[in-house]
Amino acid sequence: MDAPSIPRSVMVIAAHPDDIEFGCAGTCAKWARAGAQVVYVLVTSGDIGTHDRAHTRESLAALREEEQRAAAAICGVQTVIFLRYPDGEVTPSLALRKDLIRLIRTHRPEVVIALDPRRFIASDDYINHPDHRAVGTATLDAIAPAAAMPLLYPELGEPHRVREVWIQWAEDANVWIDISETLELKLEALRAHRSQIDESTIERVRRRAYEAGRGLCPAEAFRVIRLVREPAPNEDSPSARM
Ligand SMILES: [Zn+2]
Repeated sequence: MDAPSIPRSVMVIAAHPDDIEFGCAGTCAKWARAGAQVVYVLVTSGDIGTHDRAHTRESLAALREEEQRAAAAICGVQTVIFLRYPDGEVTPSLALRKDLIRLIRTHRPEVVIALDPRRFIASDDYINHPDHRAVGTATLDAIAPAAAMPLLYPELGEPHRVREVWIQWAEDANVWIDISETLELKLEALRAHRSQIDESTIERVRRRAYEAGRGLCPAEAFRVIRLVREPAPNEDSPSARM
């Protein structure tokens, strides 16, 4: 696949606070530095993500939203939207699909970064979280074709065609983004999730970034689907190339 241009507008749709930092925050920080408008959408606020009995769901959600906003700001992302679906119970419902269509039609991103709905038994020691799969399915179903169809849910806004979908945590990646200049920001953003992350996790993520870049540079890997083929108005400008 050709080297991708830097998009002008990006929406990342994730299930839980910290999914973005594990998956694509290095790329988001790089694009934000280059002038892209980046919006994070969190379907849940991670409100069951603890073994600490001192928390309630409400107190944990408030803490994790604060951590997510701090993580976004570290990467230059100012807009974070929380849909506040209950953590651990997300399904790819029509209600969620419609919420995502509304956001896509409102913010009109060129690129949407999505979770991978196909990832189930992810490795020898990890079953992918059902919320990740559900949010991935709802995201792709919202993008194609729903958000672009004028007769479908006209009350949710003007139709919008997303140019590219970038799927994080995909096993069949076809694009790798060099995050040499933003790896430390990605790790700092991960550290912002203080209720979730320890230093051994940080080191694991650093190691995996170099593995993704085949030892040459730290990288994030994506399966990119180009839904709209015609170039964006600024796509031929050399400065818009990676
Ligand atoms: Zn998650």
